[in-house]
Order: sequence, then C-alpha cells, then structure tokens
Amino acid sequence: MTPPASKSEHGKSITRFQKIVWFRNDLRVYDNPALYRAAEDEQGVLAVYFICRDFIKNHVVAPARVDFIRRHLLLLNQDLAELNIPLLVFDVENVSEVIPQLQLLISKYNVEQLFFNAEYPIDEFERDKKVAEVLRAQGVIVKRFHDRVMIPPGMVRNGKGEPYKVFTAFKNNWLEQVRGLELQPLKKPKLQPAHKVAHLGDDAINQLFANLELRDLSSLWPAGEKEASKRLKQFVKNRIEGYQTARDFPNQDGTSQLSPYLAIGSISPRQCIAAALQANNGELDSGNAGVTTWISELIWRDFYQHVVVDFPSVCKFKAMQKHTEAFPWKYDQKLFDAWCNGETGVPIVDAAMLQLKETGWMHNRLRMVVAMYLTKNLQIDWRMGEHYFMTQLIDGDFPANNGGWQWSASTGTDAAPYFRIFNPISQSQRFDPEGAFIKGYLPALKHLPAKLIHNPPPTPGYPLPIVDLSTSRKETIALFSALKA
Ligand code: FAD
Repeated sequence: MTPPASKSEHGKSITRFQKIVWFRNDLRVYDNPALYRAAEDEQGVLAVYFICRDFIKNHVVAPARVDFIRRHLLLLNQDLAELNIPLLVFDVENVSEVIPQLQLLISKYNVEQLFFNAEYPIDEFERDKKVAEVLRAQGVIVKRFHDRVMIPPGMVRNGKGEPYKVFTAFKNNWLEQVRGLELQPLKKPKLQPAHKVAHLGDDAINQLFANLELRDLSSLWPAGEKEASKRLKQFVKNRIEGYQTARDFPNQDGTSQLSPYLAIGSISPRQCIAAALQANNGELDSGNAGVTTWISELIWRDFYQHVVVDFPSVCKFKAMQKHTEAFPWKYDQKLFDAWCNGETGVPIVDAAMLQLKETGWMHNRLRMVVAMYLTKNLQIDWRMGEHYFMTQLIDGDFPANNGGWQWSASTGTDAAPYFRIFNPISQSQRFDPEGAFIKGYLPALKHLPAKLIHNPPPTPGYPLPIVDLSTSRKETIALFSALKA
C-alpha cells in the first residue's frame, strides 16, 4: 500500500496517520465511538479490518454472514473515503498475525494511538487484551469503547455488586441507568486531512474473500448502514406501535428484521433506542406498549452480552446451570439431520427450519419453537442446535444465540422452566392459525385446510412425525426432575 505522503486541504503536508481505528462488528460511520473519537482532532486516521480465517472457521461464521461482511466492507470503504480515511483490509490465517500486522502499520505510519470498539465473547476479549498489552508496552495508546451495548458489562450490578442472573432485575437496573444517559447518537466523524493513499478498489476487497465460502443473500439483506437506518425508520414509522401483538406471528411483518445489522454493527443499539424514544415522547418504559416491548427485546440483547462477560464459561460450551450438564442428551445424527433439513413431520418446525436455510434468518417465535423441539422432544444436545444455527444465520451473534439456546434448553440463566415445554402444534395453531407461513415453505401441505395443517394426516411428499410429542415431553420432564433431585 502507498504511504500517506500527502497534503491537507489547506496545503499542509501530512506525513503520517496518528491513529488507527480497528473495525470489527461495528461496520458503520455514524454513531461509532471509536471512529468518532479517533477523528476528533483531525490528525489523520487509518482504518483497518482483519479477515481472520481461523476465526471464521472456529466460530462457524455462516457463509451468508461472511458475504454480508464483504458487502458491508465495500460500502464502508466508500463512506470512509469521503472522510479521507483509507481502509486497509488484511486477510490473515490466524489471529496471532494481527499484532505483527498492526506493529508494521504503527512503525510505517508513525501511529501513536489505536482505537476500537469492544467485543465481549471470551476469544475476542482475550485477543483484544493481548493486543492492548503488547502495543501499550511499546508506547502505543490503546483506547477501547463500548458501542455494542447501552451499558458496558460490569456496570449493571445488584446491591452486593454481583451480576444479575434474572432478566427482570437486570432490566430494572438497566432502565434506571439508561434514563440518565446521553442518548443522542454521535454525528458523522470529522473530515481528515487529504492524503494520497490509494483507497482499495472493490476488486481488491472482493479478491480477499475469494477463497472463502460465500452465500449471496443481497436480495433479502442489502448491506450497509443506509439500508439499516432505512429499515429502522420504516419500522418505527409503520410497525413499532403494533409490535407487541404482531411480533409473535411469523407470517406478519411484525418485527424490525434489524438483527443482521445489529449483529454486524451497521446500526447501533443507541440509534435504535433513540429512534424508539422519538416515537414514544421520550418515554423508555411507559407510553406505547409496542415501543416498550421492542425496547425490552433490545434489553434482552444487552443482557446476553453481559452474561458472556460475567459468566465466561458459557463461551466454553458450558451450561449456565451446572447441574444440567448431567442431562443425558442424545446425539442421534438421523434425528438431528431430519431437524436441520425440515423433515421432522411437524409442519411449523419444518417450515421454520426451511426459512432458516432459505433466508439465513428465522422469526424469534420459531427459534424458540424449533430449539425447544430439538432439546425437549428429540432430547438432542442444545450445543448441536446452537452450532447449526451459527452455520446458517446471517445475524449469528454468539451471546444472543447461546442465550437463546440455553433459554430454550432450560440450562441457562433465567431460562424457560424445564416443565414448561412448548407444544409445537399448539404454538402453530396459535401463531400461524391459517397455516399461511407453513404453506409458504411446505408446498406438499398447500391443499390442507387450516384445521388439519398443524398436525397433518399422512400426506404424500411429507414425512410422518419422527417422534411422539407427548411421550417425549413426559420423558424429558422426568429426566429433568431426576437431575433436580
Ligand atoms: P426484533 O423483534 O425487531 O427485536 C429487535 C432486536 O432486539 C433484534 O434485532 C435483536 O438484536 C434484539 N433481540 C430481539 N429478541 C432478542 C432475544 N430474545 N435475545 C437477544 N436479542 C434479541 N438473535 C441474534 O441477533 N442473533 C442470534 O444468533 C440469535 N440466535 C437465537 C437463537 C435462539 C434459539 C433464540 C430463541 C433466539 C435467538 N436470537 C438471536 C434472538 C432473536 O430471535 C432475534 O434477535 C430476532 O428474531 C431478530 O429479529 P428482529 O431483528 O426482527 O427482532
């Protein structure tokens, strides 16, 4: 890459970049604290992004999400170019290559400071700790910001200074603190001095992704922060007020569908909360029930981000409730494959699993239904479901995914009680009463009337149920009660 021997707009030469901003799951220009602070004094900012192959492999990042990252980087590159901030993208095999690569840039461009927004799962946390230690030891100022949550982990504590294990108590404390915060999202960062560093072209960025498995879902999930804020605006204008009731019906456009953008960071939770407040006369937990219910979901999101910091064993394949580790989970590949492929013979489960396969996303109600079915009816280890979700989801986010799976499996903090098992057929009757969602994914059942579609009679082209719901439910409850005893 060409060094930044350059001239500012006022004709003054700049010979170096004083700051590096390291982008990760914060692929946006607006309301990005690391970028905003780095650009404050206009001393020259260089942006970097690392495509880390072993990370993608070990964290089973879905090909749809890898492609979403690629498409976001193309747009981020343009947005940063308008601010005179060159984006350098590096393709590294292993995370251990990040430090030497940063060191090279630091010495080449006389960089003094590194800025980034924190990530909380243990691998990312340890990586950042190591980078900060090494670079600080050689005199670089390292600044870490919190953009992924409204309140940083460690700051929501009970009277004894302990982390909350129950959501409602966490939420009350969170609300108390957020009320006192500045909720205005940060503006566009300052324009930096002009320089002559060649900005990466689209081809160069695409080339770096050439050997990775990609899945193009751009028609469903266009990339970029403009798209994310358009979705937010439309949701807040047209649907947020009806969210409380519409959010449970998978055939309605009742939720924001912002999760892929929140996960990749092309929109921030603060931007979401600020927009919701604007629609609710500034009220955080009173006023319109649709708005407050939506805010509550964003608090669940924060809650799970806190959980991975406060209870890091969840990042190591461990259940939050230790005694549930003794549950005799099954590892039946045939049953598991039937679940993955939407061939269980339970239409709502199968349609949901096909939604995941086809769109890289699944409605929240259905995530709970399929996760309960896998863990409580098939009695398959929740970790297999958690892993499979990550291989498919465009919004795959470790804290939310692990939290959702441990909730459904009754192994997590504030999880569904083990004896309250969703019956997928009554869930289907309640939340897809006409079977319209089911029919969209299972053409073999298209001709069935609403009263038969949830639990169909033997039908050509559609499998018979692979497990008896009532027997398996009873067996699971008995196994869990034995664990408790
Ligand atoms: P909305 O209903 O519009 O909610 C707004 C935002 O709040 C979401 O975009 C999301 O960021 C957050 N949110 C909503 N519900 C939850 C929740 N229960 N837990 C945490 N955050 C929430 N969400 C992910 O973002 N990534 C995942 O990998 C993920 N895996 C899940 C796995 C299981 C088994 C379960 C039960 C839930 C999972 N969720 C996950 C949470 C939830 O299903 C999705 O966030 C939601 O369906 C996204 O749709 P939306 O953007 O329309 O949400």
